[in-house]
Amino acid sequence: LNSKLVKENGELKELVYKSGGLYGSAIDEIIKWLELAQDVAENKAQGDAIGLLIEYYKTGDLQTWDDYNVAWTAATEGNVDYINSFIEVYNDPLGYRGSYETIVQVNDFDMSQKMKVLSDNAQWFEDNAPLMDAHKKKNVVGVTYKVVNVAGEAGDASPSTPIGVNLPNANWIRAAVGSKSVSLGNIIEAYNNAGSSDRLKEFVNDEEELQLEEQYGQLADKLHTALHEVIGHASGQLNPGVGETKETLKNYASTLEEGRADLVGLYYLYNPKLQELGLVDDWKAVGKAAYDGYIRNGLMTQLIRLNLGDDVEEAHMRNRQWVSAWVYEKGKADNVIEKITRDGKTYFNINDYDKLHELFGQLLKETQRIKSEGDYKAVETLVETYGVKVDQDLHAEVLERNKQFTSAPYSGFVNPVLVPEMDANGEITAIKVTQPESFPGQMLDYSKHYSFLPEVN
Ligand SMILES: [Zn+2]
Repeated sequence: LNSKLVKENGELKELVYKSGGLYGSAIDEIIKWLELAQDVAENKAQGDAIGLLIEYYKTGDLQTWDDYNVAWTAATEGNVDYINSFIEVYNDPLGYRGSYETIVQVNDFDMSQKMKVLSDNAQWFEDNAPLMDAHKKKNVVGVTYKVVNVAGEAGDASPSTPIGVNLPNANWIRAAVGSKSVSLGNIIEAYNNAGSSDRLKEFVNDEEELQLEEQYGQLADKLHTALHEVIGHASGQLNPGVGETKETLKNYASTLEEGRADLVGLYYLYNPKLQELGLVDDWKAVGKAAYDGYIRNGLMTQLIRLNLGDDVEEAHMRNRQWVSAWVYEKGKADNVIEKITRDGKTYFNINDYDKLHELFGQLLKETQRIKSEGDYKAVETLVETYGVKVDQDLHAEVLERNKQFTSAPYSGFVNPVLVPEMDANGEITAIKVTQPESFPGQMLDYSKHYSFLPEVN
């Protein structure tokens, strides 16, 4: 994991990455900063874990690495967390050598608060869900889901970054101690908002839809994620004697589960309960923005990610399509969602949000029935009818309309520059978050101040 194998005079030698070893001068800098971090650890468990990591960097001993991972996994209290070391082995074709990466992250307090409110009320959501009584849990517990904001990244995590972290990799630690899984909230938000609002303007039907999205779209997205994860995946129960869905629903298990969790979110997004709980100040507006966005994406804009002629394969994309296409078709008689053609361009307009809310409820009831009973035939019909095939004319049109918005297939991120503000005694009173002027500027700055290794190691 943390060494390079070389042949010297016909003899194999292992050069270990550690203080005094390979990359030692850079590792000494890591140790210096970790020692400072250990001093301000939020609690003992966090401090002890950092201590083991320092020990590992000093010795390169893989037993210490295991001990560290156990301690890091168990250190779940506190508002700040991190990953730091030679962790993933994707860059080694043989899959042995770890690449250095580090992320420092702070709890997303706003999202945590929203999810706590939902979790505290999980039973209300279960009791009021449009499910058959037999499929409701008598004692439901909200799923724990963690969203953090990245404060800084380096090594393999930068400038191209993951959007989530699920570690440690060692399966025996995962089985014995568990694992930490976090979603990098500000990274995901940045990805979602990259590019201009021109694409949004291209695909919304009217000014009202645009305004709702601009005003409430982000809040609606956040609440949908929170409802999906905390309430959605926790909701419902299997009938006695029915096996797990990967046995009963097989290849459709994950798209059914993701669609069901989405539907729990959609059902409650347009609901005065959210306002009662203090999560929104205008439940109707937030709900409308959420429904507009879901339908627009599920019936049109997610097709941008497919090549013409391809079927929808990915589980989430499938579920967004079968949920949207099902409610579109079932509401057709009442004109719930209207397909509009204007100047050769297609738009979907929601005419009746109350009816759409009802339709989401009906489909939620049906997907929970499929899951509870393990009804393979029904899930196959649902997904194959609504979730896989793409309207070729519409797809070609969407790709054509999207052509004007060029965006790079991969994104790189600059790190915020964190500037401490001190009082007269030299104590830090606040940290100011500033932005570097440019990506090249930041890279040049890094090479000037943090270049600790020779050209050839
Ligand atoms: Zn999910």
